[in-house]
Amino acid sequence: MLIDTHCHLNFKVFRGREEVMINRAQAVGVKLFIVPGADPKTSQQAVMLAQKYPSVYAAVGVHPHHAVQHPGGVSELLDNLKTLILKPKVVAVGEIGIDLYQYEQTKYLDYKITPEFVKAQEQLFVTQIKLALEFNKTLILHNRQAVEVLLPLLENNWDQKLKNRTVFHCCEADERLLDFAIKHHIYIGVDGDLSWSKKKQRFIKQVPLEKLVLETDSPYLTPLSARKEGEPNLNEPKNVILICDLLAAFKEISSNNVATQTTNNAVSLFGLPG
Ligand SMILES: [Zn+2]
Ligand SMILES: [Zn+2]
Repeated sequence: MLIDTHCHLNFKVFRGREEVMINRAQAVGVKLFIVPGADPKTSQQAVMLAQKYPSVYAAVGVHPHHAVQHPGGVSELLDNLKTLILKPKVVAVGEIGIDLYQYEQTKYLDYKITPEFVKAQEQLFVTQIKLALEFNKTLILHNRQAVEVLLPLLENNWDQKLKNRTVFHCCEADERLLDFAIKHHIYIGVDGDLSWSKKKQRFIKQVPLEKLVLETDSPYLTPLSARKEGEPNLNEPKNVILICDLLAAFKEISSNNVATQTTNNAVSLFGLPG
């Protein structure tokens, strides 16, 4: 059995096709799905999917991209998340973190990484770490080109309760992240970019299998072998099997071995019924 520890079946692109995606994944042995929120709306959608499908678990949280888009401010946002976090099968707060990458295309007309925006990201991040601690939930961390900002914030707000209950989702190939992960017992998420990123291929060899979990980050990061010319090539949870095989190849161990260990890791990371 495999688990997709990070897939956005709650995103618009999958609307009406969630069940098809789930069935297709289950047919190849991907049995459970963690669906993280990116804002209040997609968090609510994740909760709804978890209520509808026995195989889906939800995370609620606000992605750093959306740090300044809340007319009611952080307190209203937090009230909103606190309502959602109490729903059944919400296992984590996520995805939350810091993102300093200057995206060329976003839904926002004027997306700029200003000092004010970074400050808003930091405030939102710390608030949501505290939320996870208050409600005893797992943390799903998003980081893009922001290690220098993210790690000190995490260190300053660290709590022993987060040990073995935190994941660097789609972890960048950065030894500072690996050192921090080893020191604090944090898991490391591996995605389909392992199929093309030489840096990640080298990095992953250094990470102990006991620290790794598999994720697709669907609809993004489609593994190369799942792409066809002239098609939209949306990633989907069934492709976790491809990531499992890639990881096995780079670590020179069997896919069975990778499947067993990463599934055990995911079960303890999210406190899933074993
Ligand atoms: Zn992310
Ligand atoms: Zn994500």
